[in-house]
This record gives sequence, structure tokens and C-alpha cells, in this order.
Amino acid sequence: MSNKNNRRFLALDFDGVLVDSIQECLVVGNNAYAAYSGKGAKILSVDELSHAMLQKARHLRNYIRSGEDYVYIFHALHKKIELKDQIDFDAFLMANTELRTVFFNLFYLERQSLLIRERRLWLNLNPIYPGIPMLLYAYAKQDRLAIVSTKKSSYIIEILQHNGIEVAPKWIFHAHEEYSKRDIISDLLQQKKLAPCEIHFIDDQVSNLLAVQPLGVECFLAAWGYNDDKQRQTAARQKLPILTFQEFLQNY
Ligand SMILES: [Mg+2]
Repeated sequence: MSNKNNRRFLALDFDGVLVDSIQECLVVGNNAYAAYSGKGAKILSVDELSHAMLQKARHLRNYIRSGEDYVYIFHALHKKIELKDQIDFDAFLMANTELRTVFFNLFYLERQSLLIRERRLWLNLNPIYPGIPMLLYAYAKQDRLAIVSTKKSSYIIEILQHNGIEVAPKWIFHAHEEYSKRDIISDLLQQKKLAPCEIHFIDDQVSNLLAVQPLGVECFLAAWGYNDDKQRQTAARQKLPILTFQEFLQNY
């Protein structure tokens, strides 16, 4: 961290910002849907999915905000429901809202089972982006780091520890329906006595950034994560700067 950044406090999303977790999330999402529906087989690799299904699932990944959304991806694919953008995806979630708790529980059951039975494979399905361990170390050392994610914190700790990053639980904030990313960052502003411009919040999901933007913190869309052209256009329209991975490593 260079001197000019000394006052910066980094609030970072996890999936698609620190870790390229799409393979793990799609494997677990598929397995949770197989458990729910009795249709399709459980898998250990995304390569076990048909090419067409994998392509569609990869694209739908751009619209998720929480673990259970991965199960909705497979629900839509098996029902052959076409979801072309975030609006379609959110409408599909709303129309099937009664499944949310079931999907959430099954998703975490499958994740836990994979972690216990296939630990090495599970960790390999969650590769960290290069350069991230050093960056986290620099900000954590100064106590200017928060990881803000809907992923249950114990899994974040597993992945970071596997990559040699000693994790203080105080860095990790679990966002959920009753405590949003916006709530977390608003609390951080107060607790750490930070000016809004001192917090840099980086996420790959435009809707998370739009929810946090009114707090006045610096918001950036992670272009290396999971977002499509339409979402990046929305970001540009809403004056959300788009950060490349190279810029991220250079500027922070
Ligand atoms: Mg993300």
C-alpha cells in the first residue's frame, strides 16, 4: 500500500472480486437442485454439465446476489425458462419466492458436504485471483479492510486460510436480507469514524453498488468478476467507475 493510500479503507466483496468461485458455486447449485427436484445427477466438476447448460449457467451467474440464487439458476434451466437480464432474473426469484429458504438450506448443505468429503477438490474449485493475498495483507495490517459478502463467513475463512491469509473474524461481514451491504458499510462509517470518501467499496454486482452509492462512499465495479455488457452499461450510466483487475492491483 503506497503512502497516498494510507487513509483508504477497503470494503471488498468476496466472490468475483477476491476469488474466482464460479465453478464451486455452479457445482453446489446443481447438486442442491438435484437434491430438491430428484432430477439430474450430482456432480464434482462443471464439465459434467452439458456444454449448453454450462454456458447458460455461466451467464446467469452474473445476476446472483446470494447462495440460493445458484439453485434458482438450475431451476430456471431445468424449467427451460429464458432469463435474459437482471430484471428477468429478479422477477423469476420473486415469482418463486416460496422456494428461497429451501434453496438456501440445500445450497449450504451441499456446500458443507462437498467441503467435508472432497476438501481438496472444494478448495481447488475456489481459486483466489493472483496478487490478492499481498493486497489483503497490506490493508489488514493497518486494520483498513472489510470483506463484505453474502457468503457465510466460515467458508471465506477456509478459502483465505488455504491461501496463506491469516484471517481475523473482525474483517469479515456477513450480509443477508436483514443486514444488507449498505447497512454494513453505513455501520463501518460510524464505528471507524471514516469520512465517506475514505471507504472504497468494490463489488462485481452493480445492484450492490447502486444500493451503497447514496452513502457517498467511493464505489467501483470489478470488471474481472461476474457481470455482463448490459450491467457494465448500467454502471456507466449511473456514474459508477469500472475497475480492471490491473488497475485494482496498481491503485490499491
Ligand atoms: Mg460478487
